[in-house]
Amino acid sequence: VSDTLAHTVVDGLRRLLPADLVRVGADIEPRYFGDWVVRSGQEDAPVALTLPRTTADVAAILRVCHAHGAPVVPQGGLTGLTGGGAPVAGAVLVSLERMRAVEELDPVASTITVQAGATLQAVQEAADAADLLYPLDIGGRGSCAIGGNISTNAGGNRVLRYGMTRDLVLGLEVVLADGTVVTSLNKMLKNNAAYDLKHLFIGAEGTLGIVTRAVLRLFPKPLGTDTALCAFRDFDAVYAFLRRARAKLAGSLSAFELMWPSFYAHAAAGRSAPPIPAGYAAYVLIEAMGTDPERDAAHFAGFIESAVEDELVADAVLAKSIAETRALWAIRDMSGELVRTLQPLANFDVSIETGQIDAFERACRARLRETWPSAETICFGHLADSNLHMFVTVDERPFPEHAIEDVVYASVRDWGGSISAEHGIGVIKKPYLAYSRTPEELALMKVVKAALDPRGILNPGKVFQ
Ligand SMILES: Cc1cc2nc3c(=O)[nH]c(=O)nc-3n(C[C@H](O)[C@H](O)[C@H](O)COP(=O)(O)OP(=O)(O)OC[C@H]3O[C@@H](n4cnc5c(N)ncnc54)[C@H](O)[C@@H]3O)c2cc1C
Repeated sequence: VSDTLAHTVVDGLRRLLPADLVRVGADIEPRYFGDWVVRSGQEDAPVALTLPRTTADVAAILRVCHAHGAPVVPQGGLTGLTGGGAPVAGAVLVSLERMRAVEELDPVASTITVQAGATLQAVQEAADAADLLYPLDIGGRGSCAIGGNISTNAGGNRVLRYGMTRDLVLGLEVVLADGTVVTSLNKMLKNNAAYDLKHLFIGAEGTLGIVTRAVLRLFPKPLGTDTALCAFRDFDAVYAFLRRARAKLAGSLSAFELMWPSFYAHAAAGRSAPPIPAGYAAYVLIEAMGTDPERDAAHFAGFIESAVEDELVADAVLAKSIAETRALWAIRDMSGELVRTLQPLANFDVSIETGQIDAFERACRARLRETWPSAETICFGHLADSNLHMFVTVDERPFPEHAIEDVVYASVRDWGGSISAEHGIGVIKKPYLAYSRTPEELALMKVVKAALDPRGILNPGKVFQ
């Protein structure tokens, strides 16, 4: 983007928007220069940051950018983990942070209608105040925005029961690259009136349009939670236990978090008395949520007891209080802490068919050790969602992160898995996208992109562009 074009674009934006909604140069705070993992340098400096308050503001911004072919980078809470929201050179940043309204909660339809900049936590709290549940829950809840959740199709811990963000969205309002506003704030569960266009924008990482409003599904609020930590002698027992849990806990099963022994050993290290000793082949944190606390607790306890009696589960601890529940989850939630303490490491979020997940991990570790005999894998995952999170450490310095990625993603390709389970592609995983999508799928994505954004202004350089 030349200086002249940058000036023309900024002038155009300033003519249409109030002065406080357009910032340039040093008035753009450093926090807009990247997401959780990717920081853009001065060579990728944006020409302007815009802070629209309404859908009409977003449409005006896009009309100007479209007319001049100026790149646009949508930004939510910037908690993304793949660099999708990081600025590209000469871009106009569109931050949705001033569009935070919770517009309507409809208890009969069981929906909530919000602006895209509302934080996930604000939506959870609004639902909770009406004795309802918005079930999406991820670590970045206080900062991430609904528009960002939708654009990355965020997952999290409760996908097993409620699905990904895609399953929670009933309606969307989107501004297209040329400024056209498509309002489709559908509240009905059934609506087969031809193409369900919202799905184009869910998980599109800001490359097809800017999400401005959404209608989300709400659910009955669970009144009780039952949690247990279980240990297993082998992975066949884990898979059998998952099948049994699905059958016996039916609709109430809400989490089935698998931890490999390497993860458990690190996570429980430093605790004077881990709830279950280290050394088992696998550990599972299992949780069920229901609306009849006494009956649910008895049913859950009976379910765990019978799995121990049948020697499916080698050892188990049942949480008997909120404090004990928190203590069990604290082990699983050590993942965030381990990312910091085990540095340098390579961090992976991939999908592998559920029944093959341990065989994959062993094969991938063996492949890594062909190059780095010191390679260690520290793994955990949402087993029922086929989602494996893996940290890889090796002794070599400087740390060969990209060479490790080449090995792991090639293994994922060979096992027919997905290089991105829930974090998206952004810039970080772009080189590997063809490992998980066929040439025909990629060609069709490009047709869709060209149809919706013929000038290629929306989030250029991201996903596959
Ligand atoms: C501590 C932590 C825990 C996390 N845990 C999980 C987890 O368990 N599961 C999971 O799936 N993810 C997880 N994530 C990553 C997750 O993708 C993000 O946290 C969240 O969904 C992104 O929302 P955001 O508003 O921060 O988006 P941003 O980072 O601002 O943007 C993400 C992408 O969406 C685009 N975008 C943003 N807003 C819009 C919009 N309105 N219209 C169009 N495009 C837009 C951006 O251009 C970018 O490509 C975690 C992140 C952190 C930091």
